[in-house]
Amino acid sequence: MARYRESLCRQCRSEGVKLFLKGDRCYTDKCASERRGYAPGEHGQMRKKLSDYGVQLREKQKLKKMYGLLESQFRNYFKKSDRQKGVTGSNLLIMLERRLDNIVFRLGFANSRAEARQLVMHSHFRINGKKVNIPSYLVSAGSVIEVSEKSRNMARIKESLETVARRGLPQWLELDKANFRGVLKALPTREDLVMPIQEQLIVELYSK
Ligand code: SF4
Repeated sequence: MARYRESLCRQCRSEGVKLFLKGDRCYTDKCASERRGYAPGEHGQMRKKLSDYGVQLREKQKLKKMYGLLESQFRNYFKKSDRQKGVTGSNLLIMLERRLDNIVFRLGFANSRAEARQLVMHSHFRINGKKVNIPSYLVSAGSVIEVSEKSRNMARIKESLETVARRGLPQWLELDKANFRGVLKALPTREDLVMPIQEQLIVELYSK
């Protein structure tokens, strides 16, 4: 996971949007963005006027932080999305959603993408019966994602599964909680992705 110097909640407050970086807390009234919905720091409550470039840059930063990516990784995703058929911005969001760490998080096996990434790297998951420990692995439609048998007693995974209902399971995923198994039923469409991102601004930024 990319390293950012700011604390997790400060990142959300700086971007003015919930990035869901802190696990279950993000879905409770303890969320710092809910309690203090203004930027951190002495002048946080003053309105800042951003240039067009500044607005585009902030949008990119939001998405990067949400998925915990470095600039070089993010730019690579953009290049790949641009080479695909269809709308570049939608392709980008869909590709990010296909990352294994994201799917593990969405299925509720981890509380956050950062935790999911760590669990994936420690080989706790199998895809279609094969061990995969690469967080950036792109999961294909129809794939079965399972917690490996030896890891099913892990408290972190069990506790996270207990709270998945609060977060809500996307309709393009299916979860069999009792068997620690999920399926990516079909790739999401742009309409399925409800994060507050205006991806066109990111496309404009990189098209300069
Ligand atoms: Fe962001 Fe709120 Fe989660 Fe903190 S608790 S990381 S402010 S969404």
